[in-house]
Amino acid sequence: MERDTPGLTVTKLKKHGWLCSDTAEIGLEGVRVPAGNLLGEENRGFYGIMETFQNERICIGGICAGESARAIELTVNHVKSREAFGGSLWAQQAVRQKLASLAARAAAARQLAYHAAALADAGQDCLREVSMVKALSPEVLHDVVHGCLQFHGGTGYMHGTAIERMVRDARILTIGGGATEVMLEEVAKRM
Ligand SMILES: Cc1cc2nc3c(=O)[nH]c(=O)nc-3n(C[C@H](O)[C@H](O)[C@H](O)COP(=O)(O)OP(=O)(O)OC[C@H]3O[C@@H](n4cnc5c(N)ncnc54)[C@H](O)[C@@H]3O)c2cc1C
Repeated sequence: MERDTPGLTVTKLKKHGWLCSDTAEIGLEGVRVPAGNLLGEENRGFYGIMETFQNERICIGGICAGESARAIELTVNHVKSREAFGGSLWAQQAVRQKLASLAARAAAARQLAYHAAALADAGQDCLREVSMVKALSPEVLHDVVHGCLQFHGGTGYMHGTAIERMVRDARILTIGGGATEVMLEEVAKRM
C-alpha cells in the first residue's frame, strides 16, 4: 500500500541494538487497499509468510555463524596482544580454553545451518532442521559474544568497540523470526 494511504500509521521505535535497521510499528485503521495491489494469491498470505520464515531462519543461522566467527577472531587477536600478569591473556589456560569451547560450539551451529540450507536447496522437508537452526544458532551466538566481551575487559563495555555493538546486535536474534522457545516447540512436534 502507498505510504500516504488513509489509516496507515508508521511509528518509529527506539531499540537496544540493530540500530542500522529501520524497525517501526505499522498501524492499520480502516485501511482500504485496491484489489490491484494484491501480492500473491488471495487467502494464501499466511502460507507465503510461513515460507518466508523458513528462508529467514536459515539466513539467521548464517548471520549467527558470521557474527560468531568475527567475535572469536577479534577476541583471539585481543587476548594475544593484551599483556597482563606477566604475559598475554592467551597464556591463561582458562581464557584460551573458554575461547576454544565457544569456537567449537559456533562451528557446530554453523554446520547445522549449512545442513538445513542444503536440505532446503534440495527441496526436501526441513522444518525440523530449520527450527533447530533458529533455536540453536542465536543462543550460541549469545554465549559467544558475551564470552568475548568478557575477555575484552572494561574496553569491551564501551560504546564504539566492535564487541560492544555485537552484543547489542546479537540480542534480538533469540527473539525475532520466532523466539527460541517457540522454535523448540516446532522441533518437539517433529520428534
Ligand atoms: C528489532 C525487531 C525487528 C522485528 N522485525 C519484524 C519483522 O520484520 N516482521 C515481523 O513480523 N515481526 C518483526 N518483529 C517482531 C518479532 O517477530 C516478535 O517480537 C517476536 O516474534 C516475539 O513476539 P512478541 O514480541 O509478541 O513476544 P511474545 O509473544 O509476547 O513472547 C515473549 C517471550 O515469551 C516467550 N514465549 C513466547 N511464546 C512462547 C511459547 N509458546 N512457549 C514458551 N515461551 C514462549 C519467548 O521467550 C518470547 O521472547 C521484530 C521485533 C524486533 C524487536
